[in-house]
Amino acid sequence: MTNTVKAYRAAILHSLADPAVVGVEQSYEYFEDGLLVVEDGRIAQVGHAADLLPTLKGVEVVEYRDALITPGFIDTHIHYPQTGMIASYGEQLLDWLNTYTFPTERQFEDKAHASDVAGIFLKELLRNGTTTALVFGSVHKQSVDAFFEAAQALNLRMIAGKVLMDRNAPDYLTDTAESGYADSKELIERWHGKGRLHYAVTPRFAPTSTPEQLSLAGKLYQEYPDLYMHTHLSENRQEIEWVKALFPERSGYLDVYDHYQLIGARSVFAHGVHLCDEECRRLAETGSAVAFCPTSNLFLGSGLFDLNKLEQHGVRVGLGTDVGAGTSFSQLQSLNEAYKVMQLQGKKLDPFKSLYLATLGGAQALYLDDKIGNFAIGKDADFVVLDYRATPLIAYRMQQAKSLAEKLFALTMLGDDRTVQETFAAGQSVHRR
Ligand SMILES: [Zn+2]
Repeated sequence: MTNTVKAYRAAILHSLADPAVVGVEQSYEYFEDGLLVVEDGRIAQVGHAADLLPTLKGVEVVEYRDALITPGFIDTHIHYPQTGMIASYGEQLLDWLNTYTFPTERQFEDKAHASDVAGIFLKELLRNGTTTALVFGSVHKQSVDAFFEAAQALNLRMIAGKVLMDRNAPDYLTDTAESGYADSKELIERWHGKGRLHYAVTPRFAPTSTPEQLSLAGKLYQEYPDLYMHTHLSENRQEIEWVKALFPERSGYLDVYDHYQLIGARSVFAHGVHLCDEECRRLAETGSAVAFCPTSNLFLGSGLFDLNKLEQHGVRVGLGTDVGAGTSFSQLQSLNEAYKVMQLQGKKLDPFKSLYLATLGGAQALYLDDKIGNFAIGKDADFVVLDYRATPLIAYRMQQAKSLAEKLFALTMLGDDRTVQETFAAGQSVHRR
């Protein structure tokens, strides 16, 4: 790779730690007139433009006016095959899967179709400033090949896996315990650790896997030390009752995954809306993470996620869109809904906590905080340029704002894909509005 240095000048904001741990004031770093220096796809320096510019003789400086540079957003739970069925009307989880999801995912048997959708999906993520995501494929291994091929072409840091599903789903969409294990292993050998790609063992959720399949999934997850495990947990009350009926010998939903050795570092459970204290404790002590997916939880009527409860137990929490049940690819829109989820419980969501959830918190949930999540020197240069004048209303609102906190909050309430002026992955521009 050639030795390339480039600098980006704008207001710059990034998280340093969880505000719940260190307090809001210590949780971030902000440069009103900042400079982000990128070398060979990594962060070389960040600071005040006045300090850094004199040290950078001959370096190209790209300036953005009325803009805020933040780390790229991290989506800790999303389904790429469901891109075309986003905003499908009127069901709760289990009916929604049967009515919309399964017929849609059937189409991913066709590799060409999968490649088309992977391209649309990644473009949409980048249009929304999301540079890393933990992604469900379909049950077909070619769906994951298609996804990783598209992600690799853009040099994105992405995590994905083939769905494991050998019961309680249509015949056209099931694998077997053995074939699911073998296909996943083949994909791991082909993609895991290749460039910026990572593999996640991906049982859809406990009800659609037999004990034999969960057992082999656990074996696989333990076979490779840095592998991910990605599934759903305690999203919907009807679903929880179903898990109890299917696994009467287990003490609860999480205990099913625990029994099959599917929890631990790099395991990510989407939703966790209805977790008890004991389950939160177990998630925390095993270093597992939960993906908070506000737009999806509201859309499917699943319930209100108790962020404070998980926080108090020390559970790692990232932010997820859960498209297609989620209604937006935008993490700004996820934060808008997250704020309302908290309000409905009489709680607050500080704007700097929101920034943390969408960036460094997501990186910590994914054990990628040594590589992404903020502008620490040496990390991947994955970042977004947010436009303070994206719409007439945002521009007008920003004129009234008296503090950074006020600006940041208004951006999370009013912002969406229009707010994202440019997105960079490993120092390369991958989307320009
Ligand atoms: Zn999901």
